[in-house]
Amino acid sequence: MLKTSQISFEYFPPKTSEGVKTLRETALKLHQYQPHFFSVTFGAGGSTREGTLETITWLQNHTTIPIAPHLACVGLSRQELIHIIQLYQSMGIQRIVALRGDLPSGMGQSGELRYANDLVSLIRDTAQNHFHIEVAAYPEIHPQAKNAFEDVENLKRKADAGANSAITQYFFNPDAYFYFLDECTKHHIPIPIVPGIMPITHFDKLVRFSDMCGAEIPRWIRKRLEQYGEDLASIEAFGLEIVYRLCETLLKGGAPGLHFYTLNHANPSINVLNQLRL
Ligand SMILES: Cc1cc2nc3c(=O)[nH]c(=O)nc-3n(C[C@H](O)[C@H](O)[C@H](O)COP(=O)(O)OP(=O)(O)OC[C@H]3O[C@@H](n4cnc5c(N)ncnc54)[C@H](O)[C@@H]3O)c2cc1C
Repeated sequence: MLKTSQISFEYFPPKTSEGVKTLRETALKLHQYQPHFFSVTFGAGGSTREGTLETITWLQNHTTIPIAPHLACVGLSRQELIHIIQLYQSMGIQRIVALRGDLPSGMGQSGELRYANDLVSLIRDTAQNHFHIEVAAYPEIHPQAKNAFEDVENLKRKADAGANSAITQYFFNPDAYFYFLDECTKHHIPIPIVPGIMPITHFDKLVRFSDMCGAEIPRWIRKRLEQYGEDLASIEAFGLEIVYRLCETLLKGGAPGLHFYTLNHANPSINVLNQLRL
């Protein structure tokens, strides 16, 4: 049975006052589940530096849930990163999601740190064991990885640098996750790997997002979603069935928890959790 301590919810810093209102309502609704943590994304190159800080400050002041800011090293100097790490430490933050990030094309320099494992090392050098460090993992293989073997080796580099656990990119095929876990065991990667869960609510957005991040939508799911057209209620109902079944399979197969990509909306995650009887 799923425990609340096994779930976490991810938000992004909103850009409009309407978005701020939605996020705050969402966080207060999801607060009742007493999740392990709320995480807040960070725009690569520091594009949401202020927004991420404002969001984590609000969440710290209005909920009792531990907050985990994401930090992406691309486009920032070592000094800027150290400043942010020290700021989070001074705010009592105890968990960071350490990433490389993707710089939007045409946006400045790539920064001083090349890969996420360099950021993990920098966090350890700056704050020793203060933070629990999460990193990203890719059961369907990161789009820029040389090959599947190298991608698993990269997760090992992040674990060796001091990462405590990993959250995966979302996926809809549980076999990809279980195969990846087996590969990680073979590569002696000792950290828990929590599956990232993307509730399905819109077809076009999901396709755009998945194409960007290299997540595969199986043909049979894509075809069924496509046939619903603008019928959002049917998309949501089918999406819920798919994501609920996925979560159930993952948990039965031993997944250590579930990390929900909420896109700042509460109900799609709540519907899945209700089906899981949480
Ligand atoms: C849970 C989660 C949360 C995320 N949150 C954010 C966020 O808040 N902000 C954001 O901008 N992005 C976020 N992302 C997206 C992420 O930044 C991108 O997927 C990015 O392209 C890779 O980041 P990474 O940390 O996995 O990079 P890395 O671990 O550095 O890997 C990047 C690529 O480089 C390869 N690689 C690594 N080291 C080497 C090496 N030494 N030699 C050759 N190749 C190497 C890897 O195989 C991989 O292909 C998130 C992703 C996930 C899964």
